[in-house]
Amino acid sequence: MIKVVKFGGSSLASAEQFKKVKSIITAEEQRRFVVPSAPGKRSSTDTKVTDMLYQCYALAELGKPFDKLLGEIKARYQEIIDGLSLNISLDAEFETIRGQFSSGSGKDYAASRGEYLNGLLLAAYLGFAFLDPAEYIVFTEEGVFDSETTNRVLSARLSTMENAVIPGFYGAMPNGRIKTFSRGGSDITGSIVARAVRANLYENWTDVSGFLVADPRIVEDPESIETITYRELRELSYMGAGVLHEDAIFPVRSAGIPINIKNTNAPEDPGTYIVESTSRKPRHIITGIAGKKGFTSINIEKDMMNSEIGFGRKVLAAFEDNGISFEHMPSGIDTLTVFVHETEFEEKEQSVLAQLHRLVSPNSIDIETDFALIAIVGRAMKSKWGTAAKIFTALDRASINVKMIDQGSSEQNIIIGVHNQDFEDAIRAIYNIFVNES
Ligand code: ASP
Repeated sequence: MIKVVKFGGSSLASAEQFKKVKSIITAEEQRRFVVPSAPGKRSSTDTKVTDMLYQCYALAELGKPFDKLLGEIKARYQEIIDGLSLNISLDAEFETIRGQFSSGSGKDYAASRGEYLNGLLLAAYLGFAFLDPAEYIVFTEEGVFDSETTNRVLSARLSTMENAVIPGFYGAMPNGRIKTFSRGGSDITGSIVARAVRANLYENWTDVSGFLVADPRIVEDPESIETITYRELRELSYMGAGVLHEDAIFPVRSAGIPINIKNTNAPEDPGTYIVESTSRKPRHIITGIAGKKGFTSINIEKDMMNSEIGFGRKVLAAFEDNGISFEHMPSGIDTLTVFVHETEFEEKEQSVLAQLHRLVSPNSIDIETDFALIAIVGRAMKSKWGTAAKIFTALDRASINVKMIDQGSSEQNIIIGVHNQDFEDAIRAIYNIFVNES
């Protein structure tokens, strides 16, 4: 049995946190491969080391002095070294980093040093081997992650190792230039490593005890989710539920490896299991609720639209040609509405409208902004009637006007559109009816 354990920035922000991490790892022999993030915030007002590195490199790029900020970054690591009484010096490493910053090593290189240095410290503290992902996490010349080559070289290397610390977030291109994933990308590295060693479980350690049914900034003390499928998670994270990087599920999903989200500060909590499929019944009909504000709807009306073959395609072409992706497209007999992200649409608005007129000669086009979309997600919805009725009862009671409804044929997901100003109230109303009243 092999477990890959990934620790997020707040789990490794101080010597105190490092101690918790070590006791978690040593508690189980199976926890053999460890993926660390860079030191995160020690308190809510603190700055993540990754952000400090980006700032520092921005100064270097402008030819401005950056030694002071680099010194502050070094101090963050020194505090950990001292707190753990490690016999290690990062002087030479920081000399190299300084030189690289001056010679334009790139902002990805700069950001990656956060995990690299934290990996060195963690490996020394645990007595584990250190593996630099620059040699094993492969990006193409165009900077696209090459999953198959990575899996081949990484699994060959790790199969010979008893244990290892593999820093998260970065790899390298064939010319040796460092390339990072997008922010929060250490989650992806953890998943890649889990696939490479054919782990039985990928434990992702963070500072919350798993996924919550709703955003705690909106719903007070929401329940946590015990088990969620990849599919449900995908829907929820796309709609804004944080905790795990969206792309982190792909490597493990294809290998059938479950993920367990765990809390470094409360290791006894079971956390959330993310699985391919499960016979476990969720506690409620819905597994989770998530949503986002900031959408615009473009409502196109044309008599006899329904019988005009190719109408939908032409409408979407107007968006495609302007590089705008659409979120939802509910339709009526003579109307069709396209929901898009406000920020993507704003600048190109007039060009889209002109093209729509040219392509489909509508009777009218009506634009409304300040919409929020809310996804109500649950695998149990499929075999249960009355879910939609409950949602609308909740919204009716809260006097919220529903602007859009969309239920896909998967029946795992109902999306509703409301005005931005009703967003929080709508989520609270839906949460209450499914969780508190069920
Ligand atoms: N340190 C990187 C970030 O702050 C990557 C990570 O923590 O996963 O985005």
